[in-house]
Amino acid sequence: MKVFNADLHCHSTVSDGLLSPTVTVRRAHGNGVDLLALTDHDEIGGLEAAAAMAGELGMRFINGVEISVSWGDDQTVHILGLGFDRQFTPLVQGLANVRGGRDSRARRIAAELDKVSIHGAYEGALKYVSNPALISRSHFARYIVELGHAKDVKGVFDWWLAKGKPGHVQHAWATMEEAVRWIHGAGGIAVVAHPGRYRLARAELARMLAMFKDLGGVGIEVVSGSNNEEHIRDHAHLARHHGFLASRGSDFHGPGESWIDLGRMPQLPDDLTPVWTRLH
Ligand code: AMP
Ligand code: MN
Ligand code: MN
Ligand code: MN
Repeated sequence: MKVFNADLHCHSTVSDGLLSPTVTVRRAHGNGVDLLALTDHDEIGGLEAAAAMAGELGMRFINGVEISVSWGDDQTVHILGLGFDRQFTPLVQGLANVRGGRDSRARRIAAELDKVSIHGAYEGALKYVSNPALISRSHFARYIVELGHAKDVKGVFDWWLAKGKPGHVQHAWATMEEAVRWIHGAGGIAVVAHPGRYRLARAELARMLAMFKDLGGVGIEVVSGSNNEEHIRDHAHLARHHGFLASRGSDFHGPGESWIDLGRMPQLPDDLTPVWTRLH
């Protein structure tokens, strides 16, 4: 029997993905995905076209978003919203405000890169941007690869854009409380994306997850595209320990730029309750 293939985390050109929303949906369908959520960063402008294409193909689709949140001492945490009403004004407004900070942040990133002799990075990054409201570090990464300073996008982050590197700047995103409130207000559920990717000590991660749970968050992403078996075991343990539902998502951004293709991740451990049991 074919196992149910849910992919509840991926990106399109509406944020920092390489494929349009409709092409992303077609690719997911071609890869055998049964249930898809498009989760662009701080942006829900691709959902209408994606949902329509999924409808044409007869593939189940739910609304998604990946909200950038500032937590603790200059940490960024990504909160996935799933299965919400995309017209809900506080969500629409809240995301517009989060996006609104991105352009000035991008100019600050470019100013920092200029100091280490990477000139014209703002204009360079913009060449890779499809949605002017959403310039991200991925667009800078593509430009820095173009300049030949790194061989691929992952390498750029390690040397230029990650926390502690020359092109990293502090930024105030949404608060965790806001992100969860917007998602819940819109009738959706909130899930912590890729819990292993944060630079948090074990006790801090536990504190972050406990706070998320207190706010009403219901799930964590147990299987994410960049995970190996050890990560999955670790995340499954966190889900059991904190009493979270489990999500599964590729975090696909585009061919050649992602760890894994749409729907091609390992399955969730059997004993966990999938988040999609709470979505219709
Ligand atoms: P931003 O929201 O502008 O901070 O950009 C965050 C995005 O950068 C993430 O969603 C990833 O797509 C990308 N990113 C962050 N760290 C890495 C990394 N180490 N390797 C590849 N992509 C990364
Ligand atoms: Mn991204
Ligand atoms: Mn993320
Ligand atoms: Mn993502």
